[in-house]
Amino acid sequence: MIERVPDRYLEDASGYRGHAERVFAPADEAGVAAVLREASARAVPVTIAGAGTGLTGARVPFGGWVLSLEKLNAIEIRAGLAVVGAGALLADLHAAAQRTGQFYPPDPTEVSASIGGAVATNASGSRSFLYGATRRWIEGLRVALASGRAMDVNRGDAIDFDPGTIPLPVVTKNTAGYPLRPGMDWIDLFAGSEGTLGVVLEARLRLLAAPRALLGGVVFFAADDCALDAVETWRAVAGLRMIEYLDAPSLDLLRQRYPEIPAAARAALLIEQELASDDDPAVDAWLDRIEQAGALADESWFAVSATDRERFRLFRHALPELVNETVRAAGALKMGTDYAVPFPRNREMLAYYRARLEAEFPNRHVIFGHIGDAHVHVNIFSDPADPRRATELLLEFARHAVELGGTVSAEHGLGKRKAHLLDLQYTPPQLTAMRAVKRRLDPANILGRGTLWPA
Ligand SMILES: Cc1cc2nc3c(=O)[nH]c(=O)nc-3n(C[C@H](O)[C@H](O)[C@H](O)COP(=O)(O)OP(=O)(O)OC[C@H]3O[C@@H](n4cnc5c(N)ncnc54)[C@H](O)[C@@H]3O)c2cc1C
Repeated sequence: MIERVPDRYLEDASGYRGHAERVFAPADEAGVAAVLREASARAVPVTIAGAGTGLTGARVPFGGWVLSLEKLNAIEIRAGLAVVGAGALLADLHAAAQRTGQFYPPDPTEVSASIGGAVATNASGSRSFLYGATRRWIEGLRVALASGRAMDVNRGDAIDFDPGTIPLPVVTKNTAGYPLRPGMDWIDLFAGSEGTLGVVLEARLRLLAAPRALLGGVVFFAADDCALDAVETWRAVAGLRMIEYLDAPSLDLLRQRYPEIPAAARAALLIEQELASDDDPAVDAWLDRIEQAGALADESWFAVSATDRERFRLFRHALPELVNETVRAAGALKMGTDYAVPFPRNREMLAYYRARLEAEFPNRHVIFGHIGDAHVHVNIFSDPADPRRATELLLEFARHAVELGGTVSAEHGLGKRKAHLLDLQYTPPQLTAMRAVKRRLDPANILGRGTLWPA
């Protein structure tokens, strides 16, 4: 009998929509193991569902069963550590840590994501400029393998077979494929494996003491070049945990909602710095710094209060919303990138993006995002009747990012939608090494079928 599976288990934020025969949401680990044992015995594909905020279709099932971890959502906060069920939401983890004067450093923007999903995609975000991605904060994992057997792994527990080696791009963020190297530990392997190697049941995550105070800023520039110079200089500023970029077309979109953006501004950098106190001299140092950078000093925005910093956060998040509204109003199709390059190639990659976008999609693109990590998102507003041109351009960008030593996936993973990009980044023998790991841990290929490895 085929039961009706609720829509929320058949889609994610990628726009993909799939189908499944059944959905299971076990209340405990034994329930998860029972589902996996039966699926293994019957060779039924199992797609692991987190909260469905993924952007790559990784959790969208194309047949088989959906295994949702939503009921494994306990959160226990200790000094320096959170023990969190895979189904707990990031928003709840952030709130629980905050109540104890601590914080969980990675902040992958969409706080309705689950911890299992964040681990499986090695999620990162704006604060990853200082703190790195999820992988760095995992002390231990409890994982169920495809067979149903559960294992506890701690940081440093070496994998009990040789996973092989693949050369990795010299970037600060990379979620394309498995980062294989001799002596790697289990945590490095499971983090970022996109639900293809095991089911995360619980994660033990490191917490830090919350900073005493924070400075937020939106610094406007009349010339894009000055903004890019500032990124290069400011990357070395101690305690700076975020450098985000908005290009001129992004600011033009934002002006619809924020007319107070200075008329002369052609680029903006959003920064956040940790402070020892509200009157930390680091605040005054910013006045000199923005003068020296040739920014629109008098018209830039700075804040130390939580309310004002929240306004800046909303300002930053307004761009993706406005992009979606523009695309909807124009009946267009949004197509985007998630590539990163080594920081010394940042300017070159941006110049390439801009020249090609202006030639192919004039006035129909924005560039924004995590420039401190040489990782910006390009969004193209494509003609839905002819997505081929945008697809080809995005592919050209991916090839160029790889030529510059970069990655085809910095933070979202490849899932199903972008699985074809894996071949651009790795050679056939490197892909064979990754497939061997997949076969070893999931011999019947039941987990996450179609994700990373086209079905
Ligand atoms: C508006 C918006 C902004 C975003 N910004 C960022 C950002 O700044 N940085 C960033 O990194 N991401 C970002 N994302 C992407 C997304 O939020 C992350 O990829 C998130 O980690 C996905 O978590 P989820 O629980 O929604 O997972 P899902 O979408 O449900 O699943 C994602 C993948 O994880 C696997 N998975 C889920 N749970 C488990 C588990 N327990 N065990 C094993 N595998 C599992 C799934 O099978 C799938 O492969 C954004 C998304 C949106 C919509």
